[in-house]
Amino acid sequence: LRSELGNVERLSLVGQMAASITHEIRNPMAVVRGFLQLMREKSPGSLDHYYRIVMEELDRANSIISDFLSLAQNRIVEKEEHHLHDIIYELTPLLWADANLRGQSIELKLDEDLPKLNLNPKEMKQLILNLSRNAMEAMDDKGVLTLKTASSGEQVLFEVHDTGPGIPKNKLDKLFEPFFTTKSTGTGLGLALCLSIVERHNGTITVDSEEGKGTAFRVAFRMERPMLRS
Ligand code: ADP
Ligand code: MG
Repeated sequence: LRSELGNVERLSLVGQMAASITHEIRNPMAVVRGFLQLMREKSPGSLDHYYRIVMEELDRANSIISDFLSLAQNRIVEKEEHHLHDIIYELTPLLWADANLRGQSIELKLDEDLPKLNLNPKEMKQLILNLSRNAMEAMDDKGVLTLKTASSGEQVLFEVHDTGPGIPKNKLDKLFEPFFTTKSTGTGLGLALCLSIVERHNGTITVDSEEGKGTAFRVAFRMERPMLRS
């Protein structure tokens, strides 16, 4: 069977398997979560500490499953012409709220003349959220997160900058590997997912980090303008 399938079909077979396995795992996890909540309501108090840990770990397992699913599906996504800024504006309330809780601030430096891009909105949201969350998680309460856009030639550039501690040089080439994390509750799948999203959009992602100063993740998308050439 394997040899009869093209690359695309094989990928989607893996994707379909991943989808059904994760579905089957999620169901019992949801039941466990529900009964835990019930147990706590019936006998609150002494076990609260354990309860919190178990819930956190369940949620962590869930987010690993979500990220893994998006990664394994590596689907051929549908893209449409969108303005990147519309996607950013859709996310800003969420980001502001998150930054507020942490005492951090957000700056937007958006290029007014940014051309539209051929993109998948759901994936683009995930990309922006993952990079922004990492930035916020890296910073203390005086941190500033900057989202910047620019265009240059046939490229649309998107940058997420933070004023966090930076990334040690010897870790830079591991960042995009699945499961690489330095956080106790991290999944290490966020940047792997970012990379696969960017690749599906024919773009590149690079990181520029200075220890003690901060980090910038830069994404460059190529504009598709076949009309101009005919
Ligand atoms: P996770 O956030 O679950 O750890 P990611 O793939 O999103 O997984 O990130 C991998 C690792 O890269 C993080 O654990 C962290 O060590 C490092 N990292 C990512 N973004 C930043 C950043 N803006 N500043 C410092 N370190 C970062
Ligand atoms: Mg992350």
